[in-house]
Formats: sequence, structure tokens, C-alpha cells
Amino acid sequence: MPAPASDRPAPDPANRANPPYRGRFAPSPTGDLHAGSLLAAFGSWLLARHAGGEWWLRVEDLDPPREVAGAAQRQLTALREFGFVPDAPVVFQSRRHDLYRNALERLLDSGAAFECHCSRSDLAASGGIHRRCVARRRRPQPAVRLRVADGSIVAFEDAIQGRHVQDVAATVGDFVLRRADGLWAYQLAVVVDDAAQAITDVVRGADLLDSTPRQILLQRALDLPTPGYAHLPLVTDVHGRKLSKSDAAWPLDAADPLPALRRAWAALGQPGDALAGADLPASLLATARTAFQPHLIPPTLSATD
Ligand SMILES: [Zn+2]
Repeated sequence: MPAPASDRPAPDPANRANPPYRGRFAPSPTGDLHAGSLLAAFGSWLLARHAGGEWWLRVEDLDPPREVAGAAQRQLTALREFGFVPDAPVVFQSRRHDLYRNALERLLDSGAAFECHCSRSDLAASGGIHRRCVARRRRPQPAVRLRVADGSIVAFEDAIQGRHVQDVAATVGDFVLRRADGLWAYQLAVVVDDAAQAITDVVRGADLLDSTPRQILLQRALDLPTPGYAHLPLVTDVHGRKLSKSDAAWPLDAADPLPALRRAWAALGQPGDALAGADLPASLLATARTAFQPHLIPPTLSATD
């Protein structure tokens, strides 16, 4: 448990109370890099650099049925062509099953998690929200869920979206950590990895805002630190719909990266003329790093052209 503020050492670079900033970008290889993921990459990179911190890359490849062959490598290549170079070797979640298994065993041992045989249709009567097991038959392999106590209300301060409050018990219920098909749930893997990689600040798209309270509950159950959160505005199509990873709209041309970088810069609320002189991704990013003003990032984007 952190010491009360008054007991903490004074901020001294040689004796820091807080670890240095470490951010990350964590794409899923469900398609090529798109405008929404470029915005998340650029936003997380800018906030990390602005804080004088590190920026890491993690490939979240834990859902083979949804993945596209070769997409992970193409995303990594595209990121490099856009000028984004991580400060540590890229981590692949598909090579970290032991970490997730250990965390799950800890949760089962402590009673924070439990095996569940309920199917989707078993939970239909409660709107899919699990509060107690109502399975009508046992499954060959049960799912594992985190027990969410009644009244589990999680509040946190998002650096871009402001205060966010969620009654996790009422709106989400006991949530899945390992699915009945054996795949790891995103919530478990992301919490374990952010802690294992000592990520201090999570910057990602606002579509994950509603997942954050679950992740905070999981951090508490595993006795892990809660990082800072900043949820970037979502890139939407002309109808205001979120661009999905499979969406062909807003194609990115890594062979001609400057227009897409300028567009992402503008979507982050930054003044366009700041990047006028840049002619290569590296020089554009160097200029962007200096000109970046975090407080200008808008919580939402108006419909794009
Ligand atoms: Zn159940």
C-alpha cells in the first residue's frame, strides 16, 4: 500500500517517489494499421516523450480466431515507416502464457476468482451480467471469472476524459478472465503485462474507457499498482461510427507517411502549422515532440471529412 503523501520523500531526482514514465502502444493484429491505431500510437508516443519517458510496443495476439496472418509484422513495419521506434524489444502476448497462468492461479487460490460453467444462454435472463452461477449443465472446460462484490464502484481520473465512475457489479458483473474455449481474456492479459512491464501510464483509444474499472479491480485483486490512464478520442467515420480494425476507410499509406501523421496530429488537437516544415517522419516527430501541448487533446472528435 502506498505511504500517505506526507510520509513520502520529497521529489528529488536522485530519490524518486514515483518510477519514471513508461508508456506503451499495444495493437492487436486483427488487420493493418489504420487511422485509429495511428492516432493511439502517436498520442501515446507524444505523451511519453513529453514526460521524458519511454515508449514500448506490445503485440496483443491472444485471440487467434480474430487475427489476420502477417498483420503483426505489417503493423510493426508500418510503425517503423511512420517513425515510431520503441525503447525496448517488442513483446508478444502469445509468448507469455505462463505469466497469465500464474496470475490466474493466484486469483483462484485466494478465492478472488472462480470456475464458472454458465453459458451465454444461462445468463440471458440477467442481460448477460453474471452475479451468481446459474449453469444448467457442466462444461468440459469451465470459464474462470473474477468475483465482483456487490457495490464494487470504481472511480478514476482520466487525464483526457476526466472522472469516470462505474458500478462494476451492476453493469458488468463477475467478468471472465479465461474463456471456456481456453483463451485468455483481454482484461487479465493487459493487467498482467502492464504490471510486468512496469508501465506507469496507459494511453489508448476511448473505446477501452469502460474496460478500465475492471482492470483496476483486477490490479487490486492481484496487489498490482494502478497506472495513470489517458483515453484518446476515437476516430470515427462520417456517420460517427468508430473505425474498426477491419475497416477499409481511412487507409494509411506507410510509403507516404506525412499526410497521415499530420492528420493524426490535427485530430490530437495540435496546431497544424507547427509541423509545416517537416519533410521526413523523423523530423516531423522531432518537431511534434517539442510543439506538443497535452492539454489541447480533445475528449471527442467531431465527424471527420
Ligand atoms: Zn457462472
